[in-house]
Amino acid sequence: MTLLTYMKFDDVKEWADTHNTVSKEDDRGKAYEEFKKRKAEKLLDLVEEKFPGIRKSIKNYYTATPLSYRDYIGNDDGSMYGIVKDYNNPLKTFISPRTKIPNLYLTGQNLNLHGILGATMSGLVTSVAFLGSEDIIDKIRNA
Ligand SMILES: Cc1cc2nc3c(=O)[nH]c(=O)nc-3n(C[C@H](O)[C@H](O)[C@H](O)COP(=O)(O)OP(=O)(O)OC[C@H]3O[C@@H](n4cnc5c(N)ncnc54)[C@H](O)[C@@H]3O)c2cc1C
Repeated sequence: MTLLTYMKFDDVKEWADTHNTVSKEDDRGKAYEEFKKRKAEKLLDLVEEKFPGIRKSIKNYYTATPLSYRDYIGNDDGSMYGIVKDYNNPLKTFISPRTKIPNLYLTGQNLNLHGILGATMSGLVTSVAFLGSEDIIDKIRNA
């Protein structure tokens, strides 16, 4: 079971100069482990309200914070669904698959929509930019 909840990067700022991944291990320290446990237990208290008794069925749990996402994904301050879009001014936060640098294209959740499907759709948008036409859409529809 995976439980997700929001966490501000500021909450983990005091450990911001540590880096820990499976391939490049580092110990963020006891205070960090205690902080994670405190947060996890608080979250489990809420889950317990919805699913009474779930706690005693848990054999083990692992936790990740914005630092984990930063260290694995390479974002500055963690990540969830890409850049924050401004619905008041969509063009301000619009990222084009085309760039001014020849043969450099962009894709992924920051372009269009977040999530697995969103990132796939962005891949399609980038493919259209590569190919210079929307023929690929017809090909997919008729496949
Ligand atoms: C905890 C969590 C749960 C989620 N659950 C869901 C879900 O259930 N369903 C869903 O649809 N979406 C979910 N999402 C969102 C989804 O994972 C993302 O929207 C999607 O992965 C974005 O794809 P992407 O290819 O744009 O970016 P990413 O998957 O982040 O890929 C970017 C890649 O670029 C690499 N990279 C970064 N910087 C550099 C660099 N300088 N040089 C080289 N490589 C670099 C990163 O390591 C990474 O591999 C979840 C996200 C999180 C964080």
